[in-house]
Amino acid sequence: MYQVLARKYRPKIFDEIIGQDAIIQTLKNAVINDRISHAYIFTGTRGIGKTSIARILAKSVNCINGPTVNPCGICSACVQIQNGSSVDVIEIDGASNTGVDSIRDLKESIIYSPQSFRFKIYIIDEVHMLSNSAFNALLKTLEEPPAHAKFIFATTEIHKVPETILSRCQRFNFRRITTKVIFEKLKEIAVAEGVFATDENLMIIASLADGSLRDSLSILDTAISYFGKVIKEDVSPVLGLTAKAIIFNLIGAIFRKDYENSLKAARELYDSGADVRQFMKQAAFYIRNILIVKLKYKDLIYDLTDEEINGLIPFAEQKSAEELLDMIDIMLNADIKYQRVSSPLLMLELTIFRLFNIPSKNDVREFIDRLEKFTESRNNDETSKALPRRDSENSGAGKSKGRNKEFSENLNLEHGTPDEKKQENNASSEREKLFDHFSKTDEKLNGQDKQADKYDINSIIKIRTDGDAVGKTINAEETGERKNKLIDDAIVIDNIKEIFGNSIERIDKK
Ligand SMILES: [Zn+2]
Repeated sequence: MYQVLARKYRPKIFDEIIGQDAIIQTLKNAVINDRISHAYIFTGTRGIGKTSIARILAKSVNCINGPTVNPCGICSACVQIQNGSSVDVIEIDGASNTGVDSIRDLKESIIYSPQSFRFKIYIIDEVHMLSNSAFNALLKTLEEPPAHAKFIFATTEIHKVPETILSRCQRFNFRRITTKVIFEKLKEIAVAEGVFATDENLMIIASLADGSLRDSLSILDTAISYFGKVIKEDVSPVLGLTAKAIIFNLIGAIFRKDYENSLKAARELYDSGADVRQFMKQAAFYIRNILIVKLKYKDLIYDLTDEEINGLIPFAEQKSAEELLDMIDIMLNADIKYQRVSSPLLMLELTIFRLFNIPSKNDVREFIDRLEKFTESRNNDETSKALPRRDSENSGAGKSKGRNKEFSENLNLEHGTPDEKKQENNASSEREKLFDHFSKTDEKLNGQDKQADKYDINSIIKIRTDGDAVGKTINAEETGERKNKLIDDAIVIDNIKEIFGNSIERIDKK
Protein backbone atom coordinates (compact mmCIF):
# COMPACT_ATOMS: atom_id res chain seq x y z
CA MET A 1 0.00 0.00 0.00
CA TYR A 2 1.27 3.43 -0.90
CA GLN A 3 2.10 5.52 2.10
CA VAL A 4 2.09 9.27 1.56
CA LEU A 5 5.57 10.76 1.68
CA ALA A 6 4.81 13.14 4.55
CA ARG A 7 3.93 10.14 6.71
CA LYS A 8 6.65 7.85 5.45
CA TYR A 9 9.38 10.42 6.06
CA ARG A 10 8.06 11.75 9.33
CA PRO A 11 11.14 12.13 11.57
CA LYS A 12 11.48 9.41 14.20
CA ILE A 13 14.56 10.64 16.00
CA PHE A 14 15.91 14.08 16.85
CA ASP A 15 18.63 13.90 14.22
CA GLU A 16 16.07 13.49 11.46
CA ILE A 17 14.49 16.86 12.25
CA ILE A 18 15.66 19.59 9.93
CA GLY A 19 15.67 23.34 10.32
CA GLN A 20 15.17 23.50 14.12
CA ASP A 21 18.72 23.03 15.32
CA ALA A 22 18.61 25.26 18.41
CA ILE A 23 15.44 23.64 19.71
CA ILE A 24 16.77 20.15 19.14
CA GLN A 25 20.00 20.95 20.96
CA THR A 26 18.15 22.39 23.95
CA LEU A 27 15.82 19.41 24.20
CA LYS A 28 18.68 16.94 23.85
CA ASN A 29 20.51 18.66 26.68
CA ALA A 30 17.39 18.50 28.81
CA VAL A 31 17.13 14.75 28.20
CA ILE A 32 20.83 14.14 28.85
CA ASN A 33 20.82 16.18 32.05
CA ASP A 34 17.46 14.81 33.15
CA ARG A 35 16.01 18.29 33.34
CA ILE A 36 12.86 17.85 31.31
CA SER A 37 10.36 20.59 32.03
CA HIS A 38 6.88 19.54 33.09
CA ALA A 39 5.32 21.62 30.33
CA TYR A 40 6.45 22.78 26.92
CA ILE A 41 4.70 24.90 24.35
CA PHE A 42 5.82 24.68 20.72
CA THR A 43 4.74 27.49 18.46
CA GLY A 44 5.20 28.08 14.73
CA THR A 45 3.57 27.58 11.38
CA ARG A 46 2.23 24.20 10.29
CA GLY A 47 4.29 21.30 9.05
CA ILE A 48 7.60 22.27 10.59
CA GLY A 49 8.00 19.48 13.12
CA LYS A 50 6.13 20.48 16.28
CA THR A 51 4.20 17.26 16.82
CA SER A 52 7.04 15.15 15.45
CA ILE A 53 9.35 16.57 18.09
CA ALA A 54 6.68 16.11 20.77
CA ARG A 55 6.50 12.39 19.93
CA ILE A 56 10.25 12.01 19.77
CA LEU A 57 10.54 13.65 23.18
CA ALA A 58 7.88 11.28 24.53
CA LYS A 59 9.90 8.35 23.19
CA SER A 60 13.15 9.74 24.58
CA VAL A 61 11.86 9.74 28.13
CA ASN A 62 9.90 6.52 27.90
CA CYS A 63 12.13 4.29 25.74
CA ILE A 64 13.30 1.18 27.50
CA ASN A 65 16.84 2.55 27.13
CA GLY A 66 15.73 5.99 28.26
CA PRO A 67 15.95 8.70 29.05
CA THR A 68 17.95 8.83 25.87
CA VAL A 69 18.40 11.22 22.95
CA ASN A 70 18.35 8.20 20.65
CA PRO A 71 15.15 6.28 21.37
CA CYS A 72 15.50 2.76 20.00
CA GLY A 73 12.30 2.76 17.94
CA ILE A 74 11.73 -0.98 18.56
CA CYS A 75 10.84 -1.32 22.24
CA SER A 76 7.15 -1.45 23.05
CA ALA A 77 7.17 2.13 24.35
CA CYS A 78 8.74 3.46 21.15
CA VAL A 79 6.46 1.42 18.89
CA GLN A 80 3.28 2.35 20.77
CA ILE A 81 4.11 6.02 20.85
CA GLN A 82 4.98 5.95 17.18
CA ASN A 83 1.67 4.49 16.11
CA GLY A 84 -0.34 6.42 18.68
CA SER A 85 -1.65 3.41 20.58
CA SER A 86 -0.08 4.06 23.95
CA VAL A 87 -2.33 4.68 26.94
CA ASP A 88 0.34 6.72 28.65
CA VAL A 89 1.05 9.11 25.82
CA ILE A 90 -2.23 10.85 25.13
CA GLU A 91 -2.65 13.00 22.06
CA ILE A 92 -5.48 15.51 22.14
CA ASP A 93 -6.56 17.62 19.21
CA GLY A 94 -7.54 21.00 20.60
CA ALA A 95 -9.43 21.78 17.41
CA SER A 96 -11.83 18.86 17.71
CA ASN A 97 -15.20 18.99 19.46
CA THR A 98 -14.06 16.51 22.03
CA GLY A 99 -11.46 18.95 23.31
CA VAL A 100 -13.35 19.93 26.46
CA ASP A 101 -14.27 16.35 27.31
CA SER A 102 -10.69 15.28 26.79
CA ILE A 103 -9.44 17.93 29.17
CA ARG A 104 -12.05 16.87 31.73
CA ASP A 105 -10.88 13.27 31.39
CA LEU A 106 -7.33 14.47 31.61
CA LYS A 107 -8.03 16.25 34.88
CA GLU A 108 -9.40 13.07 36.40
CA SER A 109 -6.91 10.60 35.02
CA ILE A 110 -3.73 12.59 35.46
CA ILE A 111 -3.43 11.72 39.15
CA TYR A 112 -2.97 8.02 38.36
CA SER A 113 0.51 6.76 37.69
CA PRO A 114 1.39 5.71 34.15
CA GLN A 115 0.43 2.12 33.36
CA SER A 116 3.56 0.92 31.70
CA PHE A 117 5.91 3.84 31.05
CA ARG A 118 7.94 6.19 33.20
CA PHE A 119 5.90 9.26 32.29
CA LYS A 120 2.38 10.10 31.30
CA ILE A 121 2.66 12.56 28.48
CA TYR A 122 -0.14 14.76 27.21
CA ILE A 123 0.40 16.15 23.74
CA ILE A 124 -2.23 18.80 22.97
CA ASP A 125 -2.16 19.97 19.39
CA GLU A 126 -3.68 23.33 18.35
CA VAL A 127 -4.01 24.13 22.02
CA HIS A 128 -5.20 27.68 21.25
CA MET A 129 -8.52 26.18 20.07
CA LEU A 130 -9.53 25.05 23.54
CA SER A 131 -12.51 26.77 25.11
CA ASN A 132 -12.18 28.95 28.18
CA SER A 133 -13.55 26.25 30.44
CA ALA A 134 -11.06 23.77 29.00
CA PHE A 135 -8.23 26.22 29.59
CA ASN A 136 -9.36 26.69 33.18
CA ALA A 137 -9.44 22.97 33.77
CA LEU A 138 -6.01 22.67 32.18
CA LEU A 139 -4.63 25.47 34.30
CA LYS A 140 -5.57 23.67 37.52
CA THR A 141 -3.51 20.65 36.54
CA LEU A 142 -0.64 22.80 35.31
CA GLU A 143 -0.43 24.57 38.65
CA GLU A 144 0.36 21.39 40.52
CA PRO A 145 1.18 18.64 38.08
CA PRO A 146 2.01 15.20 39.46
CA ALA A 147 5.69 14.30 39.05
CA HIS A 148 4.86 11.54 36.56
CA ALA A 149 3.07 13.87 34.12
CA LYS A 150 4.44 16.02 31.31
CA PHE A 151 2.65 18.35 28.92
CA ILE A 152 3.60 19.28 25.41
CA PHE A 153 1.40 21.87 23.72
CA ALA A 154 1.60 22.82 20.08
CA THR A 155 0.03 25.85 18.47
CA THR A 156 0.10 27.84 15.28
CA GLU A 157 -1.43 30.85 17.04
CA ILE A 158 0.39 31.50 20.27
CA HIS A 159 -1.35 34.86 20.82
CA LYS A 160 -4.60 33.01 21.44
CA VAL A 161 -3.15 31.01 24.32
CA PRO A 162 -3.87 32.61 27.73
CA GLU A 163 -0.94 34.18 29.51
CA THR A 164 -1.66 32.05 32.58
CA ILE A 165 -0.92 28.92 30.54
CA LEU A 166 2.11 30.37 28.77
CA SER A 167 3.72 31.42 32.03
CA ARG A 168 3.77 27.81 33.17
CA CYS A 169 5.42 26.44 30.05
CA GLN A 170 8.84 26.45 28.54
CA ARG A 171 8.33 27.99 25.15
CA PHE A 172 9.99 27.15 21.84
CA ASN A 173 9.47 29.19 18.71
CA PHE A 174 9.80 26.94 15.68
CA ARG A 175 11.25 28.49 12.57
CA ARG A 176 9.95 28.27 9.07
CA ILE A 177 12.26 25.91 7.23
CA THR A 178 14.20 27.70 4.51
CA THR A 179 13.49 26.86 0.89
CA LYS A 180 17.09 25.75 0.39
CA VAL A 181 16.89 23.30 3.29
CA ILE A 182 13.55 21.93 2.07
CA PHE A 183 15.02 21.66 -1.42
CA GLU A 184 17.95 19.58 -0.17
CA LYS A 185 15.60 17.32 1.79
CA LEU A 186 13.34 16.85 -1.24
CA LYS A 187 16.35 15.91 -3.31
CA GLU A 188 17.32 13.28 -0.77
CA ILE A 189 13.80 11.87 -0.59
CA ALA A 190 13.41 11.83 -4.38
CA VAL A 191 16.56 9.73 -4.64
CA ALA A 192 15.34 7.39 -1.90
CA GLU A 193 12.04 7.00 -3.75
CA GLY A 194 13.70 6.39 -7.11
CA VAL A 195 12.13 9.54 -8.50
CA PHE A 196 13.99 11.68 -10.98
CA ALA A 197 13.08 15.36 -10.65
CA THR A 198 14.99 18.34 -12.02
CA ASP A 199 16.46 20.83 -9.55
CA GLU A 200 14.24 23.56 -11.01
CA ASN A 201 11.15 21.51 -10.27
CA LEU A 202 12.22 20.62 -6.75
CA MET A 203 12.92 24.29 -6.17
CA ILE A 204 9.43 25.23 -7.32
CA ILE A 205 7.95 22.65 -4.95
CA ALA A 206 10.18 23.76 -2.07
CA SER A 207 9.27 27.43 -2.47
CA LEU A 208 5.57 26.72 -2.86
CA ALA A 209 5.62 24.88 0.48
CA ASP A 210 6.33 28.21 2.20
CA GLY A 211 8.53 26.88 4.98
CA SER A 212 6.61 23.70 5.68
CA LEU A 213 8.42 20.44 5.03
CA ARG A 214 5.20 18.48 5.37
CA ASP A 215 3.52 20.60 2.72
CA SER A 216 6.48 20.19 0.41
CA LEU A 217 6.15 16.43 0.64
CA SER A 218 2.44 16.58 -0.11
CA ILE A 219 3.18 18.71 -3.16
CA LEU A 220 5.86 16.27 -4.27
CA ASP A 221 3.23 13.52 -3.93
CA THR A 222 0.95 15.48 -6.25
CA ALA A 223 3.73 15.90 -8.79
CA ILE A 224 4.58 12.20 -8.64
CA SER A 225 0.99 11.15 -9.15
CA TYR A 226 0.79 13.39 -12.21
CA PHE A 227 4.18 12.79 -13.83
CA GLY A 228 5.16 9.41 -12.42
CA LYS A 229 8.77 8.80 -11.50
CA VAL A 230 10.27 11.22 -14.02
CA ILE A 231 9.51 14.86 -13.31
CA LYS A 232 11.27 16.69 -16.10
CA GLU A 233 8.55 18.97 -17.45
CA ASP A 234 7.81 22.18 -15.61
CA VAL A 235 5.56 21.25 -12.67
CA SER A 236 4.18 24.79 -12.28
CA PRO A 237 0.93 24.37 -14.25
CA VAL A 238 0.09 21.16 -12.38
CA LEU A 239 0.50 23.05 -9.12
CA GLY A 240 -1.62 26.01 -10.20
CA LEU A 241 1.35 28.23 -10.99
CA THR A 242 2.32 29.91 -14.22
CA ALA A 243 5.05 28.00 -16.01
CA LYS A 244 8.43 29.57 -15.41
CA ALA A 245 9.16 29.58 -19.12
CA ILE A 246 6.14 31.79 -19.79
CA ILE A 247 7.16 34.25 -17.08
CA PHE A 248 10.70 34.24 -18.40
CA ASN A 249 9.54 34.96 -21.96
CA LEU A 250 7.19 37.71 -20.93
CA ILE A 251 9.64 39.47 -18.63
CA GLY A 252 12.34 39.09 -21.27
CA ALA A 253 10.14 40.75 -23.88
CA ILE A 254 9.25 43.58 -21.51
CA PHE A 255 12.91 44.21 -20.75
CA ARG A 256 13.69 44.28 -24.46
CA LYS A 257 10.77 46.67 -25.00
CA ASP A 258 9.48 44.19 -27.50
CA TYR A 259 5.78 45.02 -27.73
CA GLU A 260 4.86 42.32 -30.16
CA ASN A 261 6.36 39.40 -28.29
CA SER A 262 5.25 40.61 -24.91
CA LEU A 263 1.67 40.74 -26.11
CA LYS A 264 2.06 37.31 -27.63
CA ALA A 265 3.43 36.01 -24.35
CA ALA A 266 0.53 37.62 -22.50
CA ARG A 267 -1.89 35.88 -24.82
CA GLU A 268 -0.08 32.58 -24.33
CA LEU A 269 -0.28 33.03 -20.59
CA TYR A 270 -3.97 33.81 -20.78
CA ASP A 271 -4.72 30.90 -23.12
CA SER A 272 -2.87 28.50 -20.86
CA GLY A 273 -5.60 29.13 -18.32
CA ALA A 274 -3.21 30.65 -15.78
CA ASP A 275 -4.62 32.90 -13.10
CA VAL A 276 -3.50 36.37 -14.20
CA ARG A 277 -3.50 37.77 -10.66
CA GLN A 278 -1.41 34.88 -9.40
CA PHE A 279 0.91 35.50 -12.33
CA MET A 280 1.35 39.15 -11.31
CA LYS A 281 2.53 38.03 -7.89
CA GLN A 282 4.91 35.50 -9.38
CA ALA A 283 6.24 38.04 -11.85
CA ALA A 284 6.65 40.64 -9.10
CA PHE A 285 8.67 38.12 -7.15
CA TYR A 286 10.71 37.40 -10.24
CA ILE A 287 11.59 41.08 -10.59
CA ARG A 288 12.24 41.28 -6.90
CA ASN A 289 14.87 38.59 -7.50
CA ILE A 290 16.36 40.61 -10.36
CA LEU A 291 16.56 43.57 -7.99
CA ILE A 292 18.37 41.46 -5.45
CA VAL A 293 20.84 40.25 -8.06
CA LYS A 294 21.33 43.90 -9.03
CA LEU A 295 22.11 44.81 -5.44
CA LYS A 296 24.42 41.81 -5.11
CA TYR A 297 22.52 40.18 -2.26
CA LYS A 298 22.20 36.78 -3.90
CA ASP A 299 21.81 35.05 -0.54
CA LEU A 300 18.41 36.64 -0.22
CA ILE A 301 17.09 34.69 -3.19
CA TYR A 302 15.32 31.70 -1.78
CA ASP A 303 13.53 30.06 -4.63
CA LEU A 304 15.94 29.73 -7.53
CA THR A 305 18.79 27.42 -8.38
CA ASP A 306 22.25 28.97 -8.88
CA GLU A 307 21.89 28.51 -12.60
CA GLU A 308 18.59 30.38 -12.61
CA ILE A 309 20.10 33.18 -10.54
CA ASN A 310 22.88 33.60 -13.10
CA GLY A 311 20.20 33.86 -15.76
CA LEU A 312 18.93 37.02 -14.04
CA ILE A 313 22.21 38.93 -14.32
CA PRO A 314 21.60 40.26 -17.86
CA PHE A 315 18.21 41.57 -16.71
CA ALA A 316 19.71 43.20 -13.66
CA GLU A 317 22.19 45.07 -15.81
CA GLN A 318 19.48 46.67 -17.92
CA LYS A 319 17.52 48.54 -15.28
CA SER A 320 18.23 50.71 -12.31
CA ALA A 321 17.09 49.59 -8.88
CA GLU A 322 14.49 52.36 -8.88
CA GLU A 323 13.05 51.19 -12.17
CA LEU A 324 12.84 47.64 -10.87
CA LEU A 325 11.05 48.87 -7.77
CA ASP A 326 8.60 50.76 -9.96
CA MET A 327 7.98 47.60 -11.96
CA ILE A 328 7.26 45.61 -8.80
CA ASP A 329 4.87 48.29 -7.61
CA ILE A 330 3.01 48.36 -10.89
CA MET A 331 2.53 44.62 -10.89
CA LEU A 332 1.43 44.41 -7.29
CA ASN A 333 -1.00 47.28 -7.70
CA ALA A 334 -2.46 46.12 -11.01
CA ASP A 335 -5.15 44.29 -9.09
CA ILE A 336 -6.43 47.46 -7.50
CA LYS A 337 -5.80 49.75 -10.40
CA TYR A 338 -7.70 47.59 -12.84
CA GLN A 339 -10.37 46.21 -10.58
CA ARG A 340 -13.05 47.47 -12.92
CA VAL A 341 -11.46 45.79 -15.90
CA SER A 342 -13.42 42.60 -16.32
CA SER A 343 -11.08 40.88 -18.76
CA PRO A 344 -7.94 39.49 -17.14
CA LEU A 345 -6.22 39.61 -20.51
CA LEU A 346 -6.88 43.32 -20.84
CA MET A 347 -5.64 43.88 -17.32
CA LEU A 348 -2.45 42.04 -18.17
CA GLU A 349 -1.95 44.01 -21.36
CA LEU A 350 -2.52 47.35 -19.66
CA THR A 351 -0.04 46.41 -16.99
CA ILE A 352 2.51 45.45 -19.62
CA PHE A 353 2.09 48.83 -21.31
CA ARG A 354 2.68 50.54 -18.04
CA LEU A 355 5.80 48.48 -17.49
CA PHE A 356 7.08 49.59 -20.88
CA ASN A 357 6.65 53.21 -20.01
CA ILE A 358 8.36 53.51 -16.68
CA PRO A 359 10.35 56.70 -16.93
CA SER A 360 13.95 56.21 -16.00
CA LYS A 361 15.00 58.50 -13.20
CA ASN A 362 17.84 59.77 -15.37
CA ASP A 363 15.32 60.98 -17.90
CA VAL A 364 13.58 62.91 -15.19
CA ARG A 365 16.81 64.51 -14.08
CA GLU A 366 17.67 65.50 -17.60
CA PHE A 367 14.26 67.02 -18.17
CA ILE A 368 14.50 69.12 -15.07
CA ASP A 369 17.79 70.54 -16.25
CA ARG A 370 16.44 71.28 -19.66
CA LEU A 371 13.24 72.79 -18.35
CA GLU A 372 15.17 74.99 -15.99
CA LYS A 373 17.20 76.41 -18.82
CA PHE A 374 14.02 76.89 -20.71
CA THR A 375 12.44 78.78 -17.82
CA GLU A 376 15.39 81.10 -17.67
CA SER A 377 15.04 81.95 -21.30
CA ARG A 378 11.31 82.36 -20.90
CA ASN A 379 11.70 84.63 -17.90
CA ASN A 380 13.94 86.80 -20.01
CA ASP A 381 11.14 86.96 -22.50
CA GLU A 382 8.71 88.05 -19.85
CA THR A 383 10.93 90.82 -18.59
CA SER A 384 11.04 92.22 -22.08
CA LYS A 385 7.26 91.80 -22.22
CA ALA A 386 7.53 89.46 -25.17
CA LEU A 387 4.73 87.02 -25.72
CA PRO A 388 5.50 83.44 -24.81
CA ARG A 389 4.58 82.59 -28.36
CA ARG A 390 7.42 84.21 -30.24
CA ASP A 391 6.52 86.32 -33.15
CA SER A 392 9.36 87.11 -35.53
CA GLU A 393 7.36 89.79 -37.26
CA ASN A 394 7.57 91.66 -34.01
CA SER A 395 9.61 94.83 -33.72
CA GLY A 396 12.04 92.94 -31.48
CA ALA A 397 12.65 90.35 -34.17
CA GLY A 398 16.41 90.46 -33.93
CA LYS A 399 16.46 89.99 -30.19
CA SER A 400 13.83 87.33 -30.41
CA LYS A 401 15.87 85.44 -32.96
CA GLY A 402 18.82 85.44 -30.60
CA ARG A 403 16.72 84.11 -27.78
CA ASN A 404 15.18 81.55 -30.02
CA LYS A 405 18.59 80.24 -30.87
CA GLU A 406 19.50 80.03 -27.22
CA PHE A 407 16.17 78.46 -26.49
CA SER A 408 16.65 75.86 -29.18
CA GLU A 409 20.13 75.05 -27.94
CA ASN A 410 18.80 74.57 -24.47
CA LEU A 411 16.34 72.09 -25.72
CA ASN A 412 18.95 70.34 -27.85
CA LEU A 413 16.99 71.11 -30.91
CA GLU A 414 18.29 71.09 -34.39
CA HIS A 415 18.99 74.61 -35.36
CA GLY A 416 20.92 76.65 -37.85
CA THR A 417 18.43 76.21 -40.62
CA PRO A 418 18.34 79.38 -42.66
CA ASP A 419 14.58 79.41 -42.71
CA GLU A 420 13.62 81.24 -39.57
CA LYS A 421 9.96 80.42 -39.78
CA LYS A 422 10.75 76.75 -40.06
CA GLN A 423 13.12 76.99 -37.18
CA GLU A 424 10.47 78.57 -35.10
CA ASN A 425 7.93 75.95 -35.99
CA ASN A 426 10.43 73.28 -35.11
CA ALA A 427 11.09 74.96 -31.85
CA SER A 428 7.49 75.21 -30.93
CA SER A 429 6.65 71.66 -31.97
CA GLU A 430 9.68 70.34 -30.07
CA ARG A 431 8.59 72.38 -27.12
CA GLU A 432 5.13 70.87 -27.35
CA LYS A 433 6.66 67.43 -27.48
CA LEU A 434 8.85 68.11 -24.53
CA PHE A 435 5.97 69.37 -22.47
CA ASP A 436 3.84 66.50 -23.54
CA HIS A 437 6.46 64.02 -22.57
CA PHE A 438 7.10 65.74 -19.33
CA SER A 439 3.52 66.04 -18.29
CA LYS A 440 3.11 62.37 -19.04
CA THR A 441 6.13 61.59 -16.94
CA ASP A 442 4.74 63.70 -14.17
CA GLU A 443 1.41 62.01 -14.48
CA LYS A 444 3.02 58.62 -14.28
CA LEU A 445 5.04 59.53 -11.27
CA ASN A 446 2.14 61.05 -9.48
CA GLY A 447 -0.37 58.51 -10.66
CA GLN A 448 -2.77 61.33 -11.46
CA ASP A 449 -4.10 62.77 -14.59
CA LYS A 450 -3.08 66.35 -14.31
CA GLN A 451 -3.49 68.90 -17.02
CA ALA A 452 -0.56 71.01 -16.11
CA ASP A 453 -0.46 74.51 -17.43
CA LYS A 454 1.90 73.94 -20.25
CA TYR A 455 3.72 77.17 -19.72
CA ASP A 456 3.93 77.13 -15.96
CA ILE A 457 7.08 75.39 -15.03
CA ASN A 458 6.25 75.35 -11.34
CA SER A 459 3.33 73.09 -11.93
CA ILE A 460 5.42 70.80 -14.04
CA ILE A 461 8.50 70.29 -11.92
CA LYS A 462 6.62 68.61 -9.21
CA ILE A 463 8.30 65.34 -9.02
CA ARG A 464 7.29 62.77 -6.63
CA THR A 465 9.04 59.48 -6.90
CA ASP A 466 6.89 56.59 -5.88
CA GLY A 467 7.72 53.72 -3.60
CA ASP A 468 8.69 53.58 0.03
CA ALA A 469 12.40 53.82 -0.53
CA VAL A 470 12.30 56.97 -2.56
CA GLY A 471 9.18 58.63 -1.26
CA LYS A 472 10.23 62.27 -1.21
CA THR A 473 8.47 65.24 -2.60
CA ILE A 474 10.47 67.86 -4.32
CA ASN A 475 8.76 71.18 -4.15
CA ALA A 476 8.73 73.39 -7.13
CA GLU A 477 9.91 76.22 -4.87
CA GLU A 478 13.20 74.49 -4.19
CA THR A 479 16.03 75.86 -6.22
CA GLY A 480 19.68 75.41 -7.05
CA GLU A 481 21.95 73.24 -4.92
CA ARG A 482 19.23 72.30 -2.54
CA LYS A 483 16.98 71.04 -5.27
CA ASN A 484 19.80 68.97 -6.74
CA LYS A 485 20.42 67.48 -3.35
CA LEU A 486 16.76 66.61 -2.93
CA ILE A 487 16.67 64.92 -6.28
CA ASP A 488 19.78 62.97 -5.42
CA ASP A 489 18.29 61.94 -2.11
CA ALA A 490 15.16 60.82 -3.80
CA ILE A 491 16.95 58.46 -6.12
CA VAL A 492 19.43 57.13 -3.63
CA ILE A 493 18.48 53.89 -1.99
CA ASP A 494 19.82 54.24 1.45
CA ASN A 495 18.48 51.20 3.14
CA ILE A 496 18.61 48.13 1.00
CA LYS A 497 17.36 45.74 3.61
CA GLU A 498 14.34 47.87 4.27
CA ILE A 499 13.42 47.70 0.63
CA PHE A 500 13.61 43.95 0.63
CA GLY A 501 11.49 43.86 3.72
CA ASN A 502 8.89 46.15 2.23
CA SER A 503 8.66 44.38 -1.08
CA ILE A 504 8.39 41.03 0.62
CA GLU A 505 5.79 42.37 2.97
CA ARG A 506 3.85 43.87 0.11
CA ILE A 507 3.87 40.54 -1.66
CA ASP A 508 2.78 38.74 1.48
CA LYS A 509 -0.13 41.09 1.96
CA LYS A 510 -1.56 40.24 -1.43
ZN1 LIG B 1 12.67 2.40 22.61
